[in-house]
Amino acid sequence: MAPRTQRLRVAVRGAVQGVGFRPFVYRLATDLGLRGWVLNSTSGVRIEVEGEAAALEAFRLRLEREKPPRAFIQSVEASYLDPAGYAGFAIRESDASGERRALVLPDIATCPDCLREVLDPSDRRHRYPFTNCTHCGPRYTIIEALPYDRRQTTMKAFVMCPTCRSEYDDPSDRRFHAQPNACPVCGPQLELWDADGRVLAERGTALERSIEAVRGGAIVALKGLGGFHLVCDARVGPAVRELRRRKAREEKPFACMFPSLESVRATCEVSAPEERLLLSPEAPIVLLRRRTRAGAGVSAGRGAGRPGDAAASGALDPAIAPGNPYLGVMLPYTPLHHLLLAALAFPIVATSGNRSDEPICIEEHDALERLSGIADLLLVHNRPILRHADDSIVRLCAGRELMLRRARGFAPLPVALPSTVGSPPVLAVGAFLKSSVALSSRGEAFLSQHIGDLATPQARTALADTARDLGRLLEIRPRIVACDLHPDYPSTEFARRTGLPVVAVQHHEAHALACMAENELAPPVLAVSWDGTGYGTDGTIWGGEFLRVTDEGCERVAHLRPFRLPGGEAAVREPRRSALGLLWEAFGEEALARDELPPIRAFSPAERGVLAAMLRRGVQAPVTTSAGRLFDAIASLLDLRQITRFEGQSAMELEFAAQESDADGAYRFELRDAPAASPAVGDATTGSLADWEPLLRAILDDCHAGAAPGDVARRFHNALAELIVAVARTCGLPRLVLTGGCFQNVLLTESAVVRLRAEGFTPYWHQRVPPNDGGIALGQLVAAQRGPKPGS
Ligand SMILES: [Zn+2]
Ligand SMILES: [Zn+2]
Ligand SMILES: [Zn+2]
Repeated sequence: MAPRTQRLRVAVRGAVQGVGFRPFVYRLATDLGLRGWVLNSTSGVRIEVEGEAAALEAFRLRLEREKPPRAFIQSVEASYLDPAGYAGFAIRESDASGERRALVLPDIATCPDCLREVLDPSDRRHRYPFTNCTHCGPRYTIIEALPYDRRQTTMKAFVMCPTCRSEYDDPSDRRFHAQPNACPVCGPQLELWDADGRVLAERGTALERSIEAVRGGAIVALKGLGGFHLVCDARVGPAVRELRRRKAREEKPFACMFPSLESVRATCEVSAPEERLLLSPEAPIVLLRRRTRAGAGVSAGRGAGRPGDAAASGALDPAIAPGNPYLGVMLPYTPLHHLLLAALAFPIVATSGNRSDEPICIEEHDALERLSGIADLLLVHNRPILRHADDSIVRLCAGRELMLRRARGFAPLPVALPSTVGSPPVLAVGAFLKSSVALSSRGEAFLSQHIGDLATPQARTALADTARDLGRLLEIRPRIVACDLHPDYPSTEFARRTGLPVVAVQHHEAHALACMAENELAPPVLAVSWDGTGYGTDGTIWGGEFLRVTDEGCERVAHLRPFRLPGGEAAVREPRRSALGLLWEAFGEEALARDELPPIRAFSPAERGVLAAMLRRGVQAPVTTSAGRLFDAIASLLDLRQITRFEGQSAMELEFAAQESDADGAYRFELRDAPAASPAVGDATTGSLADWEPLLRAILDDCHAGAAPGDVARRFHNALAELIVAVARTCGLPRLVLTGGCFQNVLLTESAVVRLRAEGFTPYWHQRVPPNDGGIALGQLVAAQRGPKPGS
């Protein structure tokens, strides 16, 4: 990629004023030849620097590594924006005009000073799992109301001992006004429970016995910062498979917690930005590429070696992330995790403490009920968790971080909204999958933590609770509620029940507006909005959409050629149904006779009969333009997967297959006029049709000729990038946003970015807000503020 000037905006929160931070930033920026400014704001320090990508990344690394000794960073939020054309670097006047609202900080990973105390046998907090200070510890998960003060946190039940009190009252102490301040004398304590809730041990003994249990292969439910984890030995052995069996989680990858950065390096490749993310105060799960030769057991069955060998070498169990070249990795972020991992000295599985897709457990008696049958033991404590916060998940994409799940460490920090100061506060309730809510007030959007899929009653309750809780905490009373256009989503029902004026926002328009908002883009923009499922204005399932977003509205300028999904919803779990829908559209009845094709072979003759009847009559076979289902279909044709075990699995596997290939060339989509009226998001219009039939025929030819699946997958990705370029050319707008769940795919995003730039377009993609439905509430907020049309 040719060097290009970008602007990096950084909001640093923490103890960064009065410690020489601004002169430090000045020296660092000028040293790296960057232009821009730094200033003190009401919430910390704000920085904008401009230069080439490599210099900006170096700036980010050194900002955290070389900061002044007395500075402490609690959170760094960065986003890349278009250059502003700064000349030179300046320390600007403090900005006192900013938002005066007291900010609710996210939970912060244990700081080095606290860790040192916990590990120091002579310190009074030696081995104390709830050690914290003003630089670290729980925040969002313990705050009942603002102002942030101990009596308004879940720490109010603990009366500080005289020593803690004197720290708390001493302005020169690191614990001056540290609200969760505690010590072994006065603070929260551990208990170890059996699966019936009987107390087996307390305090240090509870920890010791938990360590022994994990070593012995047990599954322990561990109450952490934002909820329960289920933890077990991650190395080859029976524990991981047993956890899968008990949790009824077949193949969806488990995240792991490693004892140290060094131990991560032994298993995964870690670049400098990835190291920064792992060690950051936000301490998210980072998706890292696994080393192929470290015996890490990349795939079940393939080259994993004999189990005995692998166990001896301390390799991870292949069942952690079957067939997946990536691993979700985090480092310990509370003293409890540090103590546990230091004693174990091997990686553990640390997955959300829930049953299947329910929200994470935060309360021990609830955990006892919901996790009995999964956990052998519960390691709990008596510091109440007020609201859940799952681990956030990020991955590196085109040299920057891409948020996949926004929760602990980030929620509920705001994102600036474009020119909306003065508009009424809005509540946005998201869609169905990866649900989250958002609230806007005075030019800022506060995004809630990840809630989860709304398939369970628990998740639906959590949605309503989170919406209420966030409003109360931030003292925002919404006057409008924005929801998805889908009439039957539980989130839509919830929106109606609020009694507020409802603005229903088309799903892919919301994706587009979310991506525009975080990149601070004003219309007009061409949005490539691709995902699995979204309700279209014509009542069909959309998902492969090109939308022109203007000041006036949003127009569907192109979309994938529609095809039918036999069995409807069932197609989400069965890629072979998408493949059949595609083949039926192209070849009609003849499709079912093509026994040489894996998706056809995957159905019994009886099943074929039923499906053919659905397709013939168009009954139980809804029409879709979904790009996600197109990914499924191709994965099925390549026989990578006929039935998925978790959402998005086949698209992921197609991406992984493509990454193994460096085949060039691309299959061809044919861009032609859409036949009949192709309803717009708002106004009527006709757009273009991206016909996948030439691509389908070429793929069938290649498969017939014995082409490697990886090469086919690669040329499919290339074809999508070329399609984006082709539509961009016909549309003529210089700026594009790439949004929707399909753009969690790094290969697709990077290919599109490279090709668009080569053709003179400027592409934008997601950074701080997930491209998947976890980010959709932000777009709904913007839509409601752009021109509320209440009354649906
Ligand atoms: Zn600390
Ligand atoms: Zn104390
Ligand atoms: Zn979506």
